[in-house]
Amino acid sequence: MKIIVCVSHVPDTTTKINLGADGKNIDPAGVKFILNPYDEFAVEEALKLREKNTGEVIAISVGSDAAKEAIRQALAMGADKGILVKGEKSDSFSVAEMLAEAIKPIGADLILLGKQSIDFDGMEMAPMLSELLDLPAATVVVGLAIEGTNVTAEKEVEGGKEIISLSLPCIISAQKGLNDPRYPSLPNIMKAKSKPIEEISGSPASGRTSIIKMDKPEKKRVNKIIKAEGNPQGAAIELVKLLHEEAKVL
Ligand SMILES: Cc1cc2nc3c(=O)[nH]c(=O)nc-3n(C[C@H](O)[C@H](O)[C@H](O)COP(=O)(O)OP(=O)(O)OC[C@H]3O[C@@H](n4cnc5c(N)ncnc54)[C@H](O)[C@@H]3O)c2cc1C
Repeated sequence: MKIIVCVSHVPDTTTKINLGADGKNIDPAGVKFILNPYDEFAVEEALKLREKNTGEVIAISVGSDAAKEAIRQALAMGADKGILVKGEKSDSFSVAEMLAEAIKPIGADLILLGKQSIDFDGMEMAPMLSELLDLPAATVVVGLAIEGTNVTAEKEVEGGKEIISLSLPCIISAQKGLNDPRYPSLPNIMKAKSKPIEEISGSPASGRTSIIKMDKPEKKRVNKIIKAEGNPQGAAIELVKLLHEEAKVL
């Protein structure tokens, strides 16, 4: 079974993000980048399927040299090889086009993605690839069973689950709960350093959207001090009232 996993290199949620001088991009200085957490579920599922059916797992990313880190992490988890598509990203569609172009000649049985990237939160890569590659797709998948070419996917929907069937080759985007991603062991981290990462050039991207401006969220935090002098009971009542009515935590 030939499985492709699309991996994205994203800022760690704990890192402090500043905007670049043009106000249209983040300033990458000092930002820690990681493998997109949802992609860990996709990599894990690919590895489990390879263990069951044999075959090959290929991790692919569109980006600059820095995106190799995300590919290396997938290799350290157990993927067999990586592909870096070097191309100028402009929007999600341009990334989908470059991914589709790189994936087409490989002839994969299954293409796995995370359900969304935690930076741009687009949730659009799987549907876009579905169109560009003319393959069926199931998104936000929390359970996957494959028998022959029959695929059964359990999808998370509002208030419940939906079970759908599709056939290989197909595209699956992984949601938290699909599996428990393995931690790369030290020997596997070392082994990953010698696994091959092929570099290819992505065609000039035909982005369909452009960023006008980015804003950081407004700071909404307002500090309030309740003075207890002479009336601690009244202060306690006021505190509970504020926690209930304003902070809405009670
Ligand atoms: C208008 C616009 C302008 C942008 N400009 C820039 C820019 O100048 N520079 C820049 O670095 N980024 C830029 N980006 C972000 C970049 O295009 C994102 O990587 C891309 O949009 C995917 O994010 P998403 O949230 O749409 O993906 P989603 O659809 O949320 O991602 C779902 C899954 O797709 C896969 N995936 C996502 N991105 C990649 C990738 N790059 N390679 C492999 N697999 C992937 C992963 O499996 C991920 O879990 C821009 C985005 C937009 C919308």
